[in-house]
Amino acid sequence: MALIVQKYGGTSVGTVERIQAVAQRVKATVEAGNSVVVVVSAMGKTTDGLVKLATDITNQPSRREMDMLLSTGEQVSIALLTMALHAQGQEAISLTGAQVGIVTEAEHTRARILKIKTDRLQRHLNEGKVIVVAGFQGISQTSDLEITTLGRGGSDTSAVALAAALAAEKCEIYTDVPGILTTDPRLVPEAQLMEEITSDEMLELASLGAKVLHPRAVEIARNYGVTLVVRSSWTDEPGTRVISPRPQPRPLEGLELAHPVDAVEFDTDQAKVALLRIPDRPGIAARLFGELATQTLNVDLIIQSIHEGNTNDIAFTMVKANLARAEAVAEAIGPALRSNPTDTTQAEVMVDQRMAKISIAGAGMIGRPGVAANMFSSLAAAGINLQLISTSEVKVSCTIDIDDCDRAIAVLCQAFEVTSSPMPQGVPTTSDPAPEVRGAALDIKQARVAIRHVPDRPGMAAKIFQLLATHGVSVDMIIQSQRCRLVNGQATRDIAFTVAQADAQTAKAVVESAAAELGFGDVAVDEAIAKVSVVGTGMIYAPGVAARMFKALSEQGINLQMIATSEIKISCVVAEAEGVTALRAVHNAFGLAGLKRTVVPA
Ligand code: ASP
Ligand code: MG
Repeated sequence: MALIVQKYGGTSVGTVERIQAVAQRVKATVEAGNSVVVVVSAMGKTTDGLVKLATDITNQPSRREMDMLLSTGEQVSIALLTMALHAQGQEAISLTGAQVGIVTEAEHTRARILKIKTDRLQRHLNEGKVIVVAGFQGISQTSDLEITTLGRGGSDTSAVALAAALAAEKCEIYTDVPGILTTDPRLVPEAQLMEEITSDEMLELASLGAKVLHPRAVEIARNYGVTLVVRSSWTDEPGTRVISPRPQPRPLEGLELAHPVDAVEFDTDQAKVALLRIPDRPGIAARLFGELATQTLNVDLIIQSIHEGNTNDIAFTMVKANLARAEAVAEAIGPALRSNPTDTTQAEVMVDQRMAKISIAGAGMIGRPGVAANMFSSLAAAGINLQLISTSEVKVSCTIDIDDCDRAIAVLCQAFEVTSSPMPQGVPTTSDPAPEVRGAALDIKQARVAIRHVPDRPGMAAKIFQLLATHGVSVDMIIQSQRCRLVNGQATRDIAFTVAQADAQTAKAVVESAAAELGFGDVAVDEAIAKVSVVGTGMIYAPGVAARMFKALSEQGINLQMIATSEIKISCVVAEAEGVTALRAVHNAFGLAGLKRTVVPA
């Protein structure tokens, strides 16, 4: 007899009729010979309504009282669903998070799960009962047994954590869309259902996926190897499978607080080419990477940041063996990029063979401020200077001098208590061959902060991001580009990063407060930006993916303000007004568009 955890979202239990339909599905699963643990969200928009009530009373409600209030939503739906099961002749019992023993930290409104007691669950399962558990809530470990919640959308996380704790055969997330789509169908009607996606890809798409799947749920599924399926509550279609590699065995204690970093990865077989002072207009990146792709030169990191004036730099890395050919492409293209014959901005090509790439990777860094800062400070403390920096949701990569590589590995492994491994040569875990691009995402809720003329010496990035972390600002994408500029005889670089729009002004103020001490220039904020990303495991092996993305954007006349990549993701920052056009263009360019239409309930 298999054990299945099923989670039903708010819309799926939004009315009495829907609750009855859910009860039927649960009962059918039991009749097919399974034991079932059901996790439910609050009915419909109940939680939003409760938040509104609170903020009608005060604009700064106590976080403890918020948890007391919001946790009631799920208590309603578990009782009703259990009654519906009883009415259909199915034995069932509802339990709150506290009654199950979903133990969390005492952090109100954003608690992470520490452990789940399974004895009571086992007892009821042995009695042949369906257990209906309130999602999104837990109980603190403190002597006062405080009710906590996991953060909005957290019932997915409750479900996957229960599946991990009970070693369930699978965890099914039932929702109002047929599964995970190639992009947001409200923005791109041609978005199509995916049959499968790896958990790494899903995490990189977090900004898109968050609406369908809570990233923390994906993180737990990946860490504990939970088989996860996202499917529709209204049909019997199979939905989307989220596939995880076989995990390293881990204890169930500290379930969500397992290390934020899983691995320190390095690659000493890379070289870097940088094109400096190229004109800042659409089509340049498309041309450069198009030419590299024509010559089947596979690139790894691509980094472009913003600069004052009307020029940019683009740097990229590739295996050392391809350096000479890549350099030739860059040299040939450089002069042709001058916007007009009288243009004095002379593009320049720089190459570097004495570099190493070093990365920290781990699902646990999502939304947790200070992980990148910790990496930068550990490297700074060892006197190691950072050249390029590029980040994605689950990875921070830097290039450093090759002579510093061994020391960098040692300090990072110590700082994050992990072992090191060379860059994974990546065995795709879904059916071969993994698509180059599996999905595309748009994030318009970000702002960009640029710090000019940061002195080029160890410890600067560390100080800046440590400071932001102390102020609770979670940084999304960090880019440090190639260009070095002399200011008062001192080499400087620009560092840019993106944060949630809501944090932009705090970030600016925090960074500005350190300007005098750290000796950098002005801090500029742009809230009117959008980040467009494509994600796919197959791009590791396929030259030309970046080129296709840049070409699609340049054909729409869209200028790329920043570029950052990880092995399986390419992100571009564009003007906010162009975000949706950009998303459509890349979605189309990778053949993700289809004829089937998905309606998303309001
Ligand atoms: N009811 C909670 C919310 O609306 C938790 C959930 O639905 O996942 O955020
Ligand atoms: Mg949800």
